[in-house]
Parts: sequence; structure tokens; C-alpha cells
Amino acid sequence: MDIEENSYLPERLSGLEELASNLWWSWQPKARMLFKSLDRQIWKESRHNPVKVLKELPGKVFDSAAKDKDYLRHYDIVLSKFHKEIKADKCLLFEEINQAEMHSIAYFSAEYGLHHSLPFYAGGLGFLAGDFIKECSDLKIPLVAVGFMYPEGYLKQQIREDGWQENIKQPLDRDTASIFRVLDKNGNQLIVKVPLIEPPIHVAVWKIAVGGVSLYLMDTDIEINDPWNRGISARLYSGDIEQRLRQEIVLGIGGSEVLEKLDIKHSILHLNEGHAAFALLERIRGRVLEGVNYGEASQYVKKTAVFTSHTPVVAGHDIFPFQMIEKYFNSYWPSLGLDRDSFLKLGVHPENPNAGFNMTAFALRMSEFRNGVSKKHGEVTRKMWHSLWPDLPENEVPIDYITNGIHIPTWIEPKMKLLFNKYLGHDWVDDVDNPLIWELIDEIPDDELWKTHFWLKVKLINTIRERARQRWVNNRRSTSNILGMGTLLDPSVLTIGFARRFATYKRADLIFYDLERLKKLLNDRWRPIQIIFAGKAHPADDPGKRILQKIYNFARDPVMCGRIAFVEDYEEQFAQYMVHGVDVWLNNPLPPMEACGTSGMKAALNGVPHLSIMDGWWIEGYDGENGWIFAHEESENDTDKADAESIYRILEEKVIPCYYKFSDDGTPDDWVKVMKRSIKSNAAKFSSRRMVKEYIQKFYIKELKEAQERKLGGTLLKSPPTTAIATSNTPNAIKLDIV
Ligand SMILES: *Cc1c(COP(=O)(O)O)cnc(C)c1O
Repeated sequence: MDIEENSYLPERLSGLEELASNLWWSWQPKARMLFKSLDRQIWKESRHNPVKVLKELPGKVFDSAAKDKDYLRHYDIVLSKFHKEIKADKCLLFEEINQAEMHSIAYFSAEYGLHHSLPFYAGGLGFLAGDFIKECSDLKIPLVAVGFMYPEGYLKQQIREDGWQENIKQPLDRDTASIFRVLDKNGNQLIVKVPLIEPPIHVAVWKIAVGGVSLYLMDTDIEINDPWNRGISARLYSGDIEQRLRQEIVLGIGGSEVLEKLDIKHSILHLNEGHAAFALLERIRGRVLEGVNYGEASQYVKKTAVFTSHTPVVAGHDIFPFQMIEKYFNSYWPSLGLDRDSFLKLGVHPENPNAGFNMTAFALRMSEFRNGVSKKHGEVTRKMWHSLWPDLPENEVPIDYITNGIHIPTWIEPKMKLLFNKYLGHDWVDDVDNPLIWELIDEIPDDELWKTHFWLKVKLINTIRERARQRWVNNRRSTSNILGMGTLLDPSVLTIGFARRFATYKRADLIFYDLERLKKLLNDRWRPIQIIFAGKAHPADDPGKRILQKIYNFARDPVMCGRIAFVEDYEEQFAQYMVHGVDVWLNNPLPPMEACGTSGMKAALNGVPHLSIMDGWWIEGYDGENGWIFAHEESENDTDKADAESIYRILEEKVIPCYYKFSDDGTPDDWVKVMKRSIKSNAAKFSSRRMVKEYIQKFYIKELKEAQERKLGGTLLKSPPTTAIATSNTPNAIKLDIV
């Protein structure tokens, strides 16, 4: 970030720069309004990015805002709330713990979904991490997060005329993102060498302030590295296995070294998926350096480590050939006091000992607190990894579950939020995991809820049409393409949303199984449906791209009656429009592959009921009246056929009749009942607040007690480095004294 030009910000409004520098604004509509109200057009063109707004607005706008009493009153309120919320404070959830002696929790993840201006995510795993750290900020949990700065982001998706996905490179503009260089004591960007790994790799350190939580990001694209090393952090999940190993080395070992150099001690290590599991080694090495032997050091580390596994898909677990591990780690294992064989054994999967070093097996062995991300996924994970505990019956395999949740302030639509404010009381956001609050949803008059929802549906469809128009004007795409992008969508029609990564197990094309039956539904004269699709396939996933192509081609084929749309480049901003604006959210993965799923939770919170197969979170969420569920019918002949038929049946018999039953004032009464029930029954239960509290109660408290009993660790928790953000005299940087 670089907003030095705005040295013209009047003193009275200098806090705007401070606000823009902390992503806190992204989940605070009132803070966003401070930027938006300066110039709505620039706000829109900046794609809701305060840093850009500050850079682009002329000084006279600020001068007049500084004289506007209403603006100033609003400004003062937001700023005082901001200061209160990012201030380090006692966390009430750790009352049992001596907080004076407590260090932070270190959270490692390969991706973070925070805001569309920071494209450091591919999908659900990233949003889970982003929502997790935002919630920790809200709850004042002392947490520090570590990840990658991907200068090329994930990918920008463009669909060719023939429906094939193309990946457009879109380098991140670091100067207009809320991201800062971390400086060393000489005022240069902090560069850290990944310890003991040969040949050497260096990383530059960046920081994002996420409320009270600091997220440190590593970037290998710096001069001191050779070109191969420079590419390590270029983009998410390299397809090349060796480069992928190098990414994971940098994330785990480099990331630990960054914390060490910043002198940030941590009591707990939390691994969000196995990518960062090498961080466990650095933690052990730290103890060994203090003179503890490997056995004791690894026991300690184990008792203070959490490993969260996110996928039952076999290809989702990284396995590296032993020779490759040897190549990078041969100077590493002696530093732990291990020999080659005992080192390699740490990553052996008992069912397939010669396959290589399995990161999940390694992380499960070396962390005492392990979990899946839904009840069902817990079961599946215990089954999958039973061979690591051959003496235990499957149901006693020590892998627990904590069902994922979403950060409500991030995913509630602002207009819906205003409606909730009116009937749930103004402080409902402070109490989102209290189910009693949500009982008040019944106080909202049906027509008010319906009108708000309908307005959001119109907004979604307008956005889609505007995008199509842009492509028509700027790229001269053929008319059939433009129609397939959603020009014919009609807000009065029952609208189904399907948006997520195009991984094959998610079966985006399932509803096209029986074209005649689908066509009848799309083209019904009185009660039609329409479906909006969006999502990206991984750049190396050709089967995923083929499914996408198939859907795209259906969307532009008149045979689908103009009622199928495919919208390009699904990312956070469009995800918001989708989960707020469609009528029903469809989910039909191949069970039990969807470990949890979170997009349906985002929809449910906004009164968009879930229509889902029995898998992931919905097994816990469905209560008979808050949406629809259909069983997975494993059939010897054709499972897809059986599942597709269940979808048609439930649409024909339940969903469509429920939607198209309007009262005299045009409100679909029965539908609104389902909407209300959807919000009421899901919001608290699938909030990240409930989730983070569960991590505290099930894992963190026990680990902190363990850490304190052993009196390991050193100095006290530092005050959060957020206080050290540089102001305009040191643009682009945080001042930190590095010792
Ligand atoms: C929430 C979200 C996801 C995750 O969706 P799933 O239902 O878990 O597949 C993916 N991408 C974006 C942009 C999201 O907002």
C-alpha cells in the first residue's frame, strides 16, 4: 500500500488513512460508508477499495468533508469504535489461563480469503482461514497468522467463445492493496532466510492488519533469489511437485523463522491443513537448540499443536517422494538429532509405506489435537487414517471434529443487516452465537423480508447483465455468448444458485443429467426456474474445465430456453452478490467428498434456503423445515442418475410449489416461512464465533495449560504489532525494530 500522495489529507481526517490500512473496514459497513460517501462513483470503480479511493480523490473532496458536520460525526464514531476493537485486551474466553504469561496462537495457512482486493485464495479453505482470523480479532484472541503473498494471485478466469476456461494473469497491484512491507532496523524490507534448507531460499515479509490480528505474508519474488526460487510464491498451489514441496518448506519453516525474527513467541501452533506441517519441525528444533532431546521436544510440540484436516479427497493430501525430501532436508534432520530413516518415517502412511512422505500422516502424528471440519467429516477422517492407530477401534481414533462456520459481519448483506437491526436489536452482531437472538427473526413482517430479498435478487441480476453488456461492448462477443452470460435472467423467476470451485466431485453438471426433464422445469409457462452458475476450475484440472465448458455451452444454447447463465470469474465480490441474491442454493457433491462446505451457510444467513444432498454441514443443519435435503442414492447402475432424479423430484414436488404460492400482496408466504427458518436455525450454529469458541474449549485451553505447566517459552506476549503501522513519512511499511 502506498498512499503517500494523500499528504493532503486534512489533519482532522487523518484517521482515514489508518482505517484504510486495516481490513477491519471490510466487515464494518459504517467504516465502508465513510469512503463510499466521499464519492460513490469512485468507490464503485475502485471495486470497494478504500486505499484506491484515498489515492484517487482530489484534495478538495477531503477539505469539504472536513467541514461537513454530519460526516465528521460519523467519522468520529467509526474511529473510536475502531480503536476500541483493535486494542489488545484481555480475552474473556481465556479466564482460566494466566494471560500475563500467555503467548499468541500461531495460525498457518497456505491461503486466506479476506477481500477480493487481496486474491490470496482459491476457495473454501482460504475463506475459512480468513473468517477464522477475523473472528479472532472480534473476540480479542491473541493470534498471529502466517501465509503467502502471491504476486500473481490465483487466476482471473475468462471463458473462450467455445467455453474453454482461460487463465489470465493479473499481477497484484501492491500499491493499492491494504498490504505493507515489514521493515528491518535499517529501514529495508525484512528479508528472512529459510534456515538449514539447501540451496538457500529467502523471503521478503509483508503484513496485513486484520483488525487486531496481524497476518504476515511471505514473498519469494526478490532479487536475492534465483529465478526458480523467485517463482515459489508466484501463485497458489503449483502443479509441479518439487515446486510444491518448496512452497511448503517456505510456508512451514520460513514462516516459523519469520515469527522468530519478529520475536513473536507462540504457545500454540495451529495448522490449517497439512501444507504448513513443516512448522512442527521448526518448533521441535527450537527446543532441541535449548538443550532438550528430540523425544521430549517432540512431545511438547505435539501437546501444543492443532491440526485441522479439510479434505477427504485423496489427491488433496500431499505426498512427496523420499528422494526429494532427502534433497532438501539432509542438513535438517541432524539438527533435530535424527538420522535419515527416523526422519523419513515421520511421514510414512502405514497403508502405503513406499509412496513417499505424506504431509497429512506427518501432521496427524505430530499434533495431539486433530480435527475434521464437520461431524460427518470427522467420521470419514477417522476411517481414512485408522491405520495410524491400528490398536484402536475406528470410533476411538483420536480425531475430533469442529464444524466450520462463517464470519457473520462479513457475509451478512448490509440491507439485510439493517432489517435485522430493526427487529433483533442493534447489538445482535455482538451476540451472534446466541440462538435466542435469532428467535426474533419471527418479528420481521413477511413482506418486509420478502421485499428486501427481492431487491437483492434484482441487484444480482442487474450486476450480471451489466457485466454481460461490458463484454458485448468491449470484447464484441457473439450474441449467444452474451445471452449465456445471463442477459435473459428474469427476477420474477425462481432462481437457483450454484457457485463454487469446479472440482469434479462437486458435480456442477448433475442437474443436466436428464435434459428433457430439466427443460420442462426451465420452460414451464407459469412456474419456471432459472439457474445461475459461476466458479473456476483449477488451472491443471482439465476434467473440471470440461464440466465448465459443458455448462457454458448449455447456457448459450437456445435449447435451455435462456434460463441458464454462466457468470465468469467467480471471486469474493461476486460470491457476495450470489449468496445474497438467488432464491435457493444448490449443493450436490458426491458424498462424502464435501468435508463441510461454507457457501450454503452464507446463503442461509441471508434467507436463501439450502437445497442439498446429504453431506457436509447440511447433515447437521437440516431440521425438516429450513430448506431441503435429498438422500444420496448409491446405485449400482448409475449413481449420478439416481441423485439427479432426487433433485428433479424435490424441485417438482416441494421447492417450486412452495415458491409460487403468492398471497394477495405478492408475498410467497410459505417460502418466507422457509427463509425465516433458514436464518433462525442456521445463523448461530454455523457462525465462526461458535466455531472459534469450540477450538478454544476443545483444544486451546488444554494446550495453554500444558504450555504453562511446562513453563516453556520465554518473554511475555508482545503488544500486537498493529500499533506499529507506519504513517505517511514511511510509506508502504511498518516500523519494527528487529533485534
Ligand atoms: C465461501 C466461498 C467458497 C467456498 O464454498 P464451498 O461451498 O465451501 O465450496 C469458495 N469461493 C468463494 C469466493 C467463497 O466465497
